[in-house]
Amino acid sequence: MNLLDGKKCADSLIAGIAKQVARHVDFGLRKPHMTVVLVGNHAPSESYVKSKVTTCTLSGFESNLIRLPETVTEKELLWLIQQINADASTDGVIVQLPLPKQINAQRVINAIAPEKDIDGFHPTNFGRMALGQKAFRPATAYGICKLLQFYQVPVAGKHCVVIGRSNIVGKPISIMLSNDFDIGNATVTLTHIETPRELLLDETRRADIVIVAVGIPGFVTPDMVKDGVTLIDVGINRLENGKLVGDVDFAAVAPKCEWITPVPGGVGRMTVAALMINTLMAYQNNFELA
Ligand code: NAD
Repeated sequence: MNLLDGKKCADSLIAGIAKQVARHVDFGLRKPHMTVVLVGNHAPSESYVKSKVTTCTLSGFESNLIRLPETVTEKELLWLIQQINADASTDGVIVQLPLPKQINAQRVINAIAPEKDIDGFHPTNFGRMALGQKAFRPATAYGICKLLQFYQVPVAGKHCVVIGRSNIVGKPISIMLSNDFDIGNATVTLTHIETPRELLLDETRRADIVIVAVGIPGFVTPDMVKDGVTLIDVGINRLENGKLVGDVDFAAVAPKCEWITPVPGGVGRMTVAALMINTLMAYQNNFELA
């Protein structure tokens, strides 16, 4: 069993980004700038946002965090997005999800200028990504690709099963790994809550790579995978005892795996690193440096 160490990979990517930024700054340009919008006091969101802001500093970026109250209206949030879109001093913006019930998240995502959409959730970027064109790729899915690439895990020609079809993880990773990208060319099966259990097991038991993003602790058990599988655990679940776990019964499944991601220290770190790659790309696009 080998660990796909997201921290090690992310640290290496961020060091490379910081070097590129230093070169641009030496050349007389301003630093890349990320704007983060946080609505309310959702505890996990607070921690994700903190990690993004800290990683901006490590990457040589500037950042600002805009906090809005839980009671903010959709209209007010959309107005703020318009201001950020028009602000030439910021290269990328993220609106931390989830948003309170009175706000339609998709309408907010759609309002972000595609050239500042470093999360890669805007229909323009998602569509371009699906078509294999240059785009900001959804950060968690992109982070998974970068992790597989870093450890030179074979993907092309492999059978990959994705469990979960969310717009932010399952759907984009299934498209990206099946695309003819730098990391891709796999044969991908996308499964979800309506997939009959027997069919799910048929698929996962013969998969070379299983990617799980369901949000259920211990969902993947040893009987579901074959020996030598590569297992990517996207889940982040907080147990009652405070412990953070993924969607895989790690202790039981890890001995069967060729490669496996830990939680924490796996995909979560890579999501933030991928956001930094996207922000650098937005900045380089602005200055036509790409
Ligand atoms: P979601 O929570 O929006 O949806 C869950 C998905 O799981 C759905 O598509 C559903 O069809 C599928 N599902 C549920 N039960 C299933 C079953 N029995 N069989 C097959 N499929 C089933 O998905 P999400 O937003 O991708 O989040 C999933 C998990 O990933 C959560 O724990 C979340 O916190 C975590 N997450 C982690 C990161 C990261 O950076 N590591 C990023 C995003 C989400």
